[in-house]
Amino acid sequence: MSSALPYTTEDILAADTHLVQSWADLDSLKKPHARTAIVAAKGVMVRDSNGQELIDGIGGLWCVNVGHGRPEIIDAISNQLSTLDFYSTFYTFTHPTAAALAKKLAQLAPGNLNHVHFSTSGSDANDGAVRILHHYYERLGKPEKKLVLSRHGAYHGSTYLSIAMTTPAYSKGWSKAEGIVHHLKKPHYWREGDGMTEADFTDLLIADLRHEIERLGPENIACFIGEPIMGAGGVIVPPKGYHRRAQDVCREYDIKFVADEVVTAFGRLGHFFASEAVFDTQPDMITIAKGVTSGYQPLAATIMTDEIYDVVSGPDGVFTHGMTYAGHPAAAAAGLANIALMEAEQIPERVRVTGKLFENTLRALEDLDIVGEVRGSHFMMGIEFVRDKKNKALFDAKLNIGMLVARKAQEKGLVARPLGHILILSPPLILSEEQIARIGDILRESITEVMHDLSK
Ligand code: PLP
Repeated sequence: MSSALPYTTEDILAADTHLVQSWADLDSLKKPHARTAIVAAKGVMVRDSNGQELIDGIGGLWCVNVGHGRPEIIDAISNQLSTLDFYSTFYTFTHPTAAALAKKLAQLAPGNLNHVHFSTSGSDANDGAVRILHHYYERLGKPEKKLVLSRHGAYHGSTYLSIAMTTPAYSKGWSKAEGIVHHLKKPHYWREGDGMTEADFTDLLIADLRHEIERLGPENIACFIGEPIMGAGGVIVPPKGYHRRAQDVCREYDIKFVADEVVTAFGRLGHFFASEAVFDTQPDMITIAKGVTSGYQPLAATIMTDEIYDVVSGPDGVFTHGMTYAGHPAAAAAGLANIALMEAEQIPERVRVTGKLFENTLRALEDLDIVGEVRGSHFMMGIEFVRDKKNKALFDAKLNIGMLVARKAQEKGLVARPLGHILILSPPLILSEEQIARIGDILRESITEVMHDLSK
């Protein structure tokens, strides 16, 4: 990492008062030094404007899967910009890099998911999935099929529709598209399944799905959307067999099954796509973003089956959906180089070993008094803090327990993401065994110190 900076922390933070942060308590950011400016990154490390080096425990934001500063991706972007800086994939136009990436994604995606519509963020890929399915059903003469089934605890983005698909808990005080989305029970066995076996809890979730379908009328429902493992809703792994059974129920009622793999794809769970390899499902659509370019460029996609594509591409219709920068040459070049790198270094295969080590290292923290549940899989993990382990009672929300632990961890050289009473870890997939052990040590020390401070 180069160290010379043409500006001081004070310069950055003064300029930053003009920047409206995302998903932040903006009022609290008005306090001096409430924000951290990251100025450089290499491998799994980032450096802040004060010169502190930190392990990037959140991979940028669940996305820097191959690590920072990889010359293979940077050169591919630079070469692409020198050859063709921009052309769109609108009307009759295309360009070779977007075409090559679409072909590669179709090869990697499960089943007959062979058609790729590019976009620029996970939010608009999910919006697009619903918009495309509405159009699909219009063309089949079923224009009333408009409703979307999502789940409490889901995170699907923050555009007007994708925030409506997100858990209602995240849109308090904000409006969203009304009347389209209905939320099913959160598939979180540890918190919601008390007194039940996991199998009974799964039956309950599937019964809830059937009940909602019958209540709303299958003739009115376009799709079910779900993350294979819920991410920003608190890293919630559904009970075994849940997704497959949910998909089968959807098939029974002619409801499309959409998997939001914005986080779970591109190696985080040890496979390019998790739907088939981990969860035994064959979605009708998969949405991706983040790890497809390891965050080096904004790129997302809605990938659809032959069957959906055949309907939306049939005669007498125009596909009136798309964004100028979707499939941008530089982003497509980043995607191709990123996937090539993952294949050359066998990153998904390696994650099946190192990701398990990471998971087990974090699970060992469950012996600490305030750690209620460590959950997740491979490099997608969450730690839920509780005031009382026996009854799983939470700390007062005002205490912001996740933030207290995250601050300590940051002082000790680790970036982790607080989310109320949960701490999220989603690091680059290239962590060494030593770095994994170091993260475990930092978290143990940080949580222990917070426990000590709370007992004073
Ligand atoms: N879907 C999931 C599962 C996500 O985790 C996110 C973002 O974290 C999104 C969609 C939205 O993606 P974006 O922030 O690129 O719009």
